Amino acid sequence: MQLLIRAFTAGDRSEPGIPVISSRMQSFLSSVSKRGCLMYRIRRCCLASVLLTLASVALFSQEAPPQKGTNPPKSSGKGDIGVQVQPAAPPADKKITPEEARELFASIDDTLAWLSKDTGYAIRKKVVGELASREQVAKYVDEKMNEDEDAKRLERSEIVLKKFGLLPREFNLHKFLIDLLQEQVAGYYDVKTKKMYLLDWLSAEAQKPVLAHELTHALQDQNFDLKSWESPKAPKAGDKEEYTFDEDEASTARSAVAEGQGMVTLVDYMLRGSGTTLAQAPQVADAMRKAMTSNSDYPLLDKAPLMIRESLVFPYGDGLTFESALLQRGKDAAFSGAFRRPPQDTHEVMDVAAYLHNRPAQWMVIPDLRPELGSKYAKYDEGSIGQLDTRILAQQYADESAAKDMAEAWRGGAYYAAENKDPRLTGTARIGLLYLSRWDADDSADAFAKTYADYLPQRYSSVKRVTHKDTACADSDCKSSYFFETEEGPVSIVRIDGAGVLVCEGFDFDVAGRLEQKLLTANPAKTVQVQLRSLMSPLRTSAVIQQAVGRMLVDNVEKVIPIMGIH
Ligand SMILES: [Zn+2]
Repeated sequence: MQLLIRAFTAGDRSEPGIPVISSRMQSFLSSVSKRGCLMYRIRRCCLASVLLTLASVALFSQEAPPQKGTNPPKSSGKGDIGVQVQPAAPPADKKITPEEARELFASIDDTLAWLSKDTGYAIRKKVVGELASREQVAKYVDEKMNEDEDAKRLERSEIVLKKFGLLPREFNLHKFLIDLLQEQVAGYYDVKTKKMYLLDWLSAEAQKPVLAHELTHALQDQNFDLKSWESPKAPKAGDKEEYTFDEDEASTARSAVAEGQGMVTLVDYMLRGSGTTLAQAPQVADAMRKAMTSNSDYPLLDKAPLMIRESLVFPYGDGLTFESALLQRGKDAAFSGAFRRPPQDTHEVMDVAAYLHNRPAQWMVIPDLRPELGSKYAKYDEGSIGQLDTRILAQQYADESAAKDMAEAWRGGAYYAAENKDPRLTGTARIGLLYLSRWDADDSADAFAKTYADYLPQRYSSVKRVTHKDTACADSDCKSSYFFETEEGPVSIVRIDGAGVLVCEGFDFDVAGRLEQKLLTANPAKTVQVQLRSLMSPLRTSAVIQQAVGRMLVDNVEKVIPIMGIH
């Protein structure tokens, strides 16, 4: 196997002097980055590992002499670099030597100084490095897992995610998380101890690039107190006016800022010496973003459901795109500015114009539906379905292009789940769902209703379309609406006024009618309730999961680095 990487060469492309990533490099990067970064809070170490690998590639590229014979055509000055990847035996632990460790710790100061210039963040304190052993890291992870509320929330959401078809019915989320936890960890900056932990079983050279990413978090922490900044709380509601604030969405958006910045600095670190930065070469961000979401050969991530993969990559991929766009407005806008005024939700991350014009999304109102549930059901869960969630849902139900269109057309979404008390029902059959969404236009709402209906046979084994009339239909004959009988009860997908779609699954028709009516009279509403949760975000907000993903990534790094021969 031979992989020729022309990394960041100047010349022979349409924009001379601008670095490019060759498609081969992209596929290589994708194979690395697809080790993926799940949701959010964990992210601290997660993508760092992707970055670690990317940066390692860049390091090798910078240091390697040109490869003889198979060189791509030479371009101006900066040089094309050939890096050969050869099959090799699985790498053994390469324990760091005391001298290497000393040198690595010494490089913290230099890297921090370089980062401070790159980001504009002041260095307020020296960052102390510490070596950690596998045992120490394992213990750290165990402790984190036990106190991680997001991981518990995620497990509770499992059945609702299954009902939506976002996780396969037979998927064992707990086992998947445990598998993640059993992987290795990358070096990481711990906001609690304020230390940069480096690993005693990886070589110094392999860990240097991760410093650029992780120490960015140290600078963010020194300037903005990262831990509290990343856990925004809704302000107390005023007497007269309520406002929109979804803590989960806000937290996810902030993670995209923190990780996006860490990606920017890593790319800049890779480009150092080339005389250019990401600000001058925004197409590098796009290439990396794409690389992160293309396919990989790595089993754990490959068998992870789309929702898990996409959620993992979001803070890094979309965060990088967001930060790269802000960089066009200057360093302050992209770094300190984004911390002073962070995006409020995934909508503002995915649509930079909405952020720049300060147009946050409107959230749906979910009234108290308990009286309408009657005695047969109990409330199980409720929350928002934001723009990112919608993109993931549409990609699962249709394809990438539908996902892009529907995410752009998204104007709000919320769900409500209730549990049927009948003890004979098991699994998702116990769960009744209500899902209200709003779109930019009637056409988009029609398209979403159809996509939702078309995917039902993938979610239920028995799906029979039935004729039904619903008073909520936007058109009197309910032509754009869909009604089905399934093995888990009736499903209605009703096109409602105001470019909306109201989905009701698993409730008896009479209960469904009562719920729909109450929900619709509450929406649209003058006041907006404060939403505190969102369906998929525990995946993105769990520190344990993020660290787990980091371990998965570095596992790959360990495999890749030793087999990279330079010729
Ligand atoms: Zn990070």
